[in-house]
Amino acid sequence: MNFKSNKLYIENIEATKLAKKFGTPSYCYSLSKLKKNIQNFKKNFESVNPLICFSVKSNSNLQILKEIKRSGIGADVVSKGELIIALKAGISPKKIVFSGIGKTFDEIKFAIKKNILLINAESESEIREIEKIAKTKKKKINIGLRLNPNIDAKTLKKISTGKDEDKFGVTESVFLKILKKFRDSKYLCIKCLSVHIGSQITDYHPYAKMIDVVQKTIKKSKHKFDFIDLGGGMGIKYNNKTKSLNYKKYNLIIKKFLKKNNVKIIFEPGRSIIADTAVLLTKIIYIKTTRKKNFIILDAAMNDLIRPALYGAIHQIAPLQRNNKIINKMHDFVGPICESTDKFLSLKKYQKLNEKEVLVICDVGAYGMVLASNYNLRAKPSEIMVNKSSVKVILKRQQLNTII
Ligand SMILES: *Cc1c(COP(=O)(O)O)cnc(C)c1O
Repeated sequence: MNFKSNKLYIENIEATKLAKKFGTPSYCYSLSKLKKNIQNFKKNFESVNPLICFSVKSNSNLQILKEIKRSGIGADVVSKGELIIALKAGISPKKIVFSGIGKTFDEIKFAIKKNILLINAESESEIREIEKIAKTKKKKINIGLRLNPNIDAKTLKKISTGKDEDKFGVTESVFLKILKKFRDSKYLCIKCLSVHIGSQITDYHPYAKMIDVVQKTIKKSKHKFDFIDLGGGMGIKYNNKTKSLNYKKYNLIIKKFLKKNNVKIIFEPGRSIIADTAVLLTKIIYIKTTRKKNFIILDAAMNDLIRPALYGAIHQIAPLQRNNKIINKMHDFVGPICESTDKFLSLKKYQKLNEKEVLVICDVGAYGMVLASNYNLRAKPSEIMVNKSSVKVILKRQQLNTII
């Protein structure tokens, strides 16, 4: 995304043209940006040589998953549906890990049938369930066990997952107990220790602490792991105030860890791969002016993009045509849904805007479309992908008659 003589372009295409041709609201992705992000991620951890498993829950568009597959990346899935779509995208089962605290009997059976790399279990009950199924299939299943390292990821509270008050993983003492209990199982082999402490992490210190806890746990367990799955969580720059994660430092910490441990590292990045590859094109329906505020009423709403309403997340909003007429008044960018939380952003000033003008909400590639709903019986938006000077629809706009 860049401005050329004050006009916004997505790669080589003027955003105004995209809005006109495909309508609003529409998620618009840049393929070059996606490729660049994957390249950068690989480069940041080149010396670690990890298995990268894209977190499908951050974006499960089939065409995007096909691009992910083309770049040689695997998948981290959290449901049978995600496992099916990852396989449909052509991702090898040997590059798929299955996370989540509540995998059902049916989901585990399916994962075993598909011979995926690892089922990352999160409780003793789940391990017993896996063992039971493995026994009936007369197979030995490779699993991971998720450790809850009790670390504050210093991110939004609602997307933190590594504290002992969070529902994820097991504490160190339980972890060690489970290892002992299942050491001689005929049907299970605990090959992996996994952790994931949260999302949108921009400070490497929580990661450093996490590796510390992992190292201590390995030492206490005297268990030989083939894989250490460090999860995802790498944050992106949503605005000028957010810090950027220091990948160099994180990479160094892992390199040090690998000197003491002969294991394969797995990463499960979602946001850092896909978040900043997309914008949400949205049209201003009305501008309502009150004494204190200008309400910019958009045709996108919290059903299209729920992150601001759900987590208090901040997404920048950019015009398609820049001007220098600044209006010094509070601007609330809101959707048409009958909820006061249906608000994207409040700004103290903004350039002069007009009704029917199109804007973009930025960095919506992760946890955007996947969280879209039909609330207020609104149809879900379309998804399009730009590749240099060409563009294609990667998901058609939902039609009302399919949901009514
Ligand atoms: C959500 C999730 C991820 C991806 O997190 P990002 O912040 O998008 O990188 C990875 N692993 C697990 C287990 C998750 O639940």
